[in-house]
Amino acid sequence: MKTLRTIREVRETLAPDRRRERSIGLVPTMGAFHDGHLSLVRRARTECDVVVVSLFVNPTQFGPAEDLGGYPRDEARDRALAEAEGVDVLFAPPIEEVYPEGFDTTVTVGALTTVLEGDPGQRGPGHFAGVATVVAKLFNMVGPDVAYFGQKDAQQVLVIRKLVRDLDIPVRIEVCPIVRDPDGLALSSRNAYLSSGERERALALSRALRAAEETVAGGATDAAAVLAAARAELDAAGIEPEYLELRSMPDLSEVNRVNGSTLLAVAARVGKARLIDNAILGDNK
Ligand code: AMP
Repeated sequence: MKTLRTIREVRETLAPDRRRERSIGLVPTMGAFHDGHLSLVRRARTECDVVVVSLFVNPTQFGPAEDLGGYPRDEARDRALAEAEGVDVLFAPPIEEVYPEGFDTTVTVGALTTVLEGDPGQRGPGHFAGVATVVAKLFNMVGPDVAYFGQKDAQQVLVIRKLVRDLDIPVRIEVCPIVRDPDGLALSSRNAYLSSGERERALALSRALRAAEETVAGGATDAAAVLAAARAELDAAGIEPEYLELRSMPDLSEVNRVNGSTLLAVAARVGKARLIDNAILGDNK
């Protein structure tokens, strides 16, 4: 595995592969790898000739009050994990390679980025402007045929699909299921912030999603009933969610009834960690 720091090195390394029409898969990450990240890498490894993993903690997607400074970083560990999964290139650019002096362009995806995580009372639309801009840049730097994202960040997936469609970026987007610990907690780099007691309380998020799924499986489709079932699990753990919402996919419009493409998304603070989780309801999976 090569660890590369510059766009030029990445392009030079991949040029022969591109000439030989070898398929290139990209897995964008912010590091602190866990099995969620590795599930994307494994999928890329089975589907692509060349696997590139990017490791870049993107400052522009963090708000001023967010955890950029304390975000877990361990490149040596990530490098070893990536190498063990058969990654060909780990692209870990320094900040000035991505945002050189004078950088002054932002990619903004519209309405999708103003609700849920993008609500000004939450992370705000600036979060997704940061994500869309860095992902557009990574696509231009690497030129992948396929890029892999996790359903854990459900709204991010919708934003990136829209970005790719609206800007005609020639890349296929593949989405991998949420990887959870056996007790249900969705894996996240931010779980590292949880004490063992907080981790126990955090299980209420996945329990809330499951309660909603069971309510739908029992025949209820009314949004209020489904949300009440989820809310009861959060209440039982003393968790006040930042949001708990049903939204229609892919446009994230509001819904009164659950149908086969309804996203239930939750965000909550547990201790120092701000956690998100989601489920797609009523799709008879
Ligand atoms: P991050 O490093 O948090 O930006 O995540 C990099 C990629 O891994 C994103 O596409 C995430 O959606 C994905 N990811 C993070 N956690 C999980 C998880 N528990 N299951 C599946 N994918 C995940």
